[in-house]
Amino acid sequence: MEHLFKNIKRDKSISILDANIPISEYYPIDLSDSNKDLDYVNISNPEECQNYIDLILKNSGAKVAYGGYLERRNLYKESQLFSGHNQRNIHLGLDFWCSVGTEVLAPLDGRIHSFKNNSELGDYGPTIILEHSIFGEVFYSLYGHLSVESLEGLLVGQEIKANQTIANLGRPEINVNYAPHLHFQLVMDIEGYFGDYPGVCRQDDLEFYSKNCPNPNLLLGL
Ligand SMILES: [Zn+2]
Repeated sequence: MEHLFKNIKRDKSISILDANIPISEYYPIDLSDSNKDLDYVNISNPEECQNYIDLILKNSGAKVAYGGYLERRNLYKESQLFSGHNQRNIHLGLDFWCSVGTEVLAPLDGRIHSFKNNSELGDYGPTIILEHSIFGEVFYSLYGHLSVESLEGLLVGQEIKANQTIANLGRPEINVNYAPHLHFQLVMDIEGYFGDYPGVCRQDDLEFYSKNCPNPNLLLGL
């Protein structure tokens, strides 16, 4: 799928957060189980996770911490959604950790495919999926951990323009129990899902999901 995103015309990185935050204020973060800092931080606790992110942002002078594509994480161990043998712990999206309420922008023209509040603990909370078509190929972008208000008044099929504000980031009580962040994921075949799509997978399914959910940074160019 890389060819698809390489052909998109852009002379700079695409921002999908509040346009007042320059890309130079984005800082990469490692939340994988190989990050030794996290031996002492329980990142499945939203306050501890937020403290860790605040520390990273303070030390780097940045406003947004981002990363996580195909990262293997301990973050999901405490949620029933992801438990059991051969657990789902490989992250398929790119996360952007920043303030509650931060605006989320569409990276490309598209239309609303679906939306839903996935309110089970450890899930996405309010979620929007956009459908895009470029060079005759259809694909989808998913936005998770939004505010409830973000879903109000939306219509399936509604046209969305590039750079249009489509949502705001939700609080931990809404998003569901994470430090505020945007989960942004690309999906080639949506497989009949509506307002939802797996955001983590198990090792055995990685080959399929890493192809069906290409690295979002191929599109954004951060
Ligand atoms: Zn995520």
